[in-house]
Amino acid sequence: MSIRFKLTIMFLFISVIPLVIISIMTFNNYKSSLEQTRISELRYIAAYKADRIEYYFHNLKAGIKIAQTLYNIKWNLPVLTKYDNDRNNPAYARAVKTLDGQLINMQNVMELSDIILINPGGDIAYLSSPSNFSNSLEEIINPSEMNVLKNDRERVFFSDIFLNRATGSRPSMVIAVPVYDFGNKYIGIIAYLLDMKYIYNLIQDVTGLGKTGETLVAKEFGNRVVFLNPLRQDPNAALKRYVLMGDRPGAPVQEAVRGKTGTGILPDYQGDMVIASWRYIPVINWGMVAKIDVSEAFSQVEKLKNLAMMIFMIIFALCAVLVFFMARSISEPIKRLSNGAEIIGKGSLDHKVGIGTKDEIGKLSRAFDKMTSDLKKITASRDELDNEITERKKAEQALKRSNENLEQFAYVASHDLQEPLRMMASFSELLERRYKNRLDSDADEFIGFIVDGAKRMQKLINDLLAYSRIGRPGTAYQDIDCNNTLAKVISSMINSIEEKGAVITNDELPVLPGIESEFIQLFQNLIGNAVKFHGNDSPRVHISAERQPGHWLFSVKDNGIGIESQYKDKIFLIFQRLHARGEYPGTGIGLSICKKIIESRGGRIWVESESGKGSVFYFTIPIKGEDENEQ
Ligand code: ADP
Repeated sequence: MSIRFKLTIMFLFISVIPLVIISIMTFNNYKSSLEQTRISELRYIAAYKADRIEYYFHNLKAGIKIAQTLYNIKWNLPVLTKYDNDRNNPAYARAVKTLDGQLINMQNVMELSDIILINPGGDIAYLSSPSNFSNSLEEIINPSEMNVLKNDRERVFFSDIFLNRATGSRPSMVIAVPVYDFGNKYIGIIAYLLDMKYIYNLIQDVTGLGKTGETLVAKEFGNRVVFLNPLRQDPNAALKRYVLMGDRPGAPVQEAVRGKTGTGILPDYQGDMVIASWRYIPVINWGMVAKIDVSEAFSQVEKLKNLAMMIFMIIFALCAVLVFFMARSISEPIKRLSNGAEIIGKGSLDHKVGIGTKDEIGKLSRAFDKMTSDLKKITASRDELDNEITERKKAEQALKRSNENLEQFAYVASHDLQEPLRMMASFSELLERRYKNRLDSDADEFIGFIVDGAKRMQKLINDLLAYSRIGRPGTAYQDIDCNNTLAKVISSMINSIEEKGAVITNDELPVLPGIESEFIQLFQNLIGNAVKFHGNDSPRVHISAERQPGHWLFSVKDNGIGIESQYKDKIFLIFQRLHARGEYPGTGIGLSICKKIIESRGGRIWVESESGKGSVFYFTIPIKGEDENEQ
């Protein structure tokens, strides 16, 4: 997974999660506050209308209570009753006229359809507007109700709504009270005929209720809840449409007629979910509901949801673009850096990453470029070094080859020279023996030179051959007891030792693997020199060996003339001597033979000396399988 991809996902998470949370929270807040607003609006509408209805009926009730006490009615209703069968009687006409004078006016002022007076027999005795009422009275106030009314002076009767035939079946209603004469005798009933127009206007006013909202009133009849007013979806509903008590549809209206007040989201009479507020109107025993379809009430929520979705998508898209570029601006330099690293890794040290920004990546890039250029310098000097080493190795090999050639030549030459030299030596000695004192003295001296020259040359060639032989393959290592070897050497040198009065001592020496002839040469040369280069005192030589980490350290100590410090290395070179032959005899090969033997075994040889105070020659013999630095 690339860095850019990771960064993009990360940034999107960071930006989108809060966005989603905020959107959902805002949306829910808005939805619930809208719901609350809607419910309180509906509650208000229901309360307002119910109050108005209650107030309306309350006023009517008060009005009819006053009518109950009217002198005019108390006086004239019995007259009408009395002359019911004699309507041409002037008293009847007078009574009607008197009643008209007051009641028609009252009807108009109170916006009633009619004022009806009923005689104790239950028949209509008087109508303020005869043309406004033609229904049978019994279907409005049934006889048993009449009976109840007759005996209860306080009672105000509210009829059910009925269709008034005289006014084209307009829903109407009657309220009624009993009337008593001055002697408290029941003389009949006063009834107000109301057109429901006023109530309906109030109920059906849909201000604030949108397209689906409405208010309705209903009344309970047995197990039916009958709607009393035309409905928005059903103009003929008044008195015809009902819901069954206990059914799910119309739950709010059922609650209302049961005397409850409340709000909620419930199915209406059509089964649609509505937000509803309901309450009971006690004065006439009605239930009232104000409601609006949930779909409409929350249409704004739906709109908001869409808007929120749109805003979310836009912000998301913006975030995505922003994040993409941001991630790229971060990942691109890293990519450049990693590409650069790869190119440099393949060996192009001239490549530069070259990011000039001031941030951490810019710093990293500069550090990287610096590292590359340093690396380039180091590589260049390493290359030079490599070249130099190769050159040196070549030279060393050439030198080694030429040394080998030279040694081969020396060996062959010395070897081949031995024979003619031996001949020269023996014949010159023969010459000396036979002709000594028989020629002149010059000739004797010259022959002596020849003999001496031939001997020296033999010694030189022997030494050279010994030198050449060292390190030649062929001889296997054996355990050499150095004490024995030393004893052999001393006994071979016994003449010169005695001649010089030398004293030779030694410590216990080790047994070491090696080639005995080499050890012999070592001791011979070193002890020979120690005896040879003596000072005024007779020579004292001491040989010792010490076990040290990784090697044995041998020393050969003398009390001779010593060596000046500037010659300490020179004396180990072949043919290098510090003295004239006349002073000390020798070929200048002895120490170089020692050096060659020691170095062929991986050891070291050196001298510690002061002029006139004797010398100590040291050499080491490494012990196989042991590290020099081990303690
Ligand atoms: P040679 O003994 O044949 O001269 P070497 O190679 O053995 O040749 O010695 C080289 C020179 O080192 C000698 O000529 C001498 O000057 C010096 N030298 C060697 N051993 C000693 C010693 N023990 N004391 C003083 N000088 C020495």
